[in-house]
Amino acid sequence: MRRFALVLVALGVTVGFSACSEESADPDGGEATPKKKKAEPTYIGAQGVTVTQVAVYQSLKRTLMVDGGPGAAEVPLVAGRDAVVRVFYTTDETYEGGEILARLEVEGGDPIEVTTTLAGPSTDEDMASTVNFVVPADRVGQTFSYSVGLLEEGKKSNDNAAARWPAEGLEAVAVDGPPNKLRVILAPFQYNTDGSGRVPDMSAERVELYRQRLKQIYPVSDVEVSVRQTTPWNQYIGPDGSGWQQVGISVYNMRGQDGTSDDVYYYGIFDPAASFFSYCGGGCLLGVTLLNDQPSDTGSVDLRLALGVGFAEYAADTMAHELGHSHGRKHAPCGGPDGIDPGYPHAGAQIGVWGMDTATQTLIAPSAATDIMGYCETQWVSDYTYKALLSRGQNVNLPRLHAPTRSPAVVVGIDGAGQATWSGETTVTENTRGRALAATLVGANGGRSAATAQYYSWDHLPGGIAIIPTGDAADVSRVELELDGKRRIAER
Ligand SMILES: [Zn+2]
Repeated sequence: MRRFALVLVALGVTVGFSACSEESADPDGGEATPKKKKAEPTYIGAQGVTVTQVAVYQSLKRTLMVDGGPGAAEVPLVAGRDAVVRVFYTTDETYEGGEILARLEVEGGDPIEVTTTLAGPSTDEDMASTVNFVVPADRVGQTFSYSVGLLEEGKKSNDNAAARWPAEGLEAVAVDGPPNKLRVILAPFQYNTDGSGRVPDMSAERVELYRQRLKQIYPVSDVEVSVRQTTPWNQYIGPDGSGWQQVGISVYNMRGQDGTSDDVYYYGIFDPAASFFSYCGGGCLLGVTLLNDQPSDTGSVDLRLALGVGFAEYAADTMAHELGHSHGRKHAPCGGPDGIDPGYPHAGAQIGVWGMDTATQTLIAPSAATDIMGYCETQWVSDYTYKALLSRGQNVNLPRLHAPTRSPAVVVGIDGAGQATWSGETTVTENTRGRALAATLVGANGGRSAATAQYYSWDHLPGGIAIIPTGDAADVSRVELELDGKRRIAER
């Protein structure tokens, strides 16, 4: 169904790229009398060749040079992330069609070289029309200083500087660093409600597909996906949203149960039917989370979670979308979602620039895919979402002082009808901040004290959850909340 599955079949494309090798110029190893070594060949800019554009891709195109000037530096270059560099060129009649040594110098290691002949003219949509270099993640460091040359053997006096960029030395490109990793724990649920005991596919192959999809979308140097122990589940989970809130609260409570570090995202996953088609016949809910946009730089630790179905057709894209909400992203305007981000810059949720799956060197035209935060099919990440995810990721994923002081709190679920349910105890950090609601804590002895609840709405579901810090209040047996002008009561 999804393009993603098709792309994976086409793995293994890196034909024509070779790591640098400094070949010895001495072919005469076996002879008794040593001979004088041949001189190293001199490589010069190839005749009749002009480098017109240099671009680097890591999910999206970042133009480094165009027609001798700087490219628009709008897409960040992410430290420690795999990249592909494409060199665009033109040739004139003085290029004789001979073999070219294409060389990419990157500071901090050997040059990356490709031997090729040129055809051109180069276009965005045709990978074969450009000279392409695979740049391993570890070559994109804190800075990226590079030069490219389309070279041939010759005398220095015949050098064609137009076939190299820059003409002398290396050009430095700013890199967004340091490297950072997105960590996700998959929390499978065993669906016992229909007697099946069904558990979503958590095979190593499937988990790797999830990891790869997150790696395509998220501007991080790496993605780590691990699988938590399976949680038995005996309540109904329906395509209309029934029962999802209870699963969500269960996932919410896992962080406290596991003592996980703050940068980790939880993803609850379940198969409430035997197949996607039997689950989703007349339309269905695929995933849910709580929009995690306060405070805007980090969101709340406890809201780094989401949940969704494990059906192969949609699970990976649903996961990438829901975790986007957990990164504070609202919807992109495609497919009619609620909660559209008013700042989204491209009509129809288009991705804005050329995309590339660097693992397979598959190009994605700006109009051929829509942003992962919309509801349309064939999704990739836009420049807009990519930058926002990078900013959030650098605030959350990098090693820093996490785990500020935690204090006790109560979890209350509020369903689509406004009914409140006591849903367990938890702890909160100082930055747990949602929509503030006036609340009252009632002790077992009837004593009352005022509190402030933080309320979070589900993104694709009515209702939400309220977290009420209890502070020093002991034996809280009931909480009362003011939500939308009505008092909601939950009892332990
Ligand atoms: Zn959504």
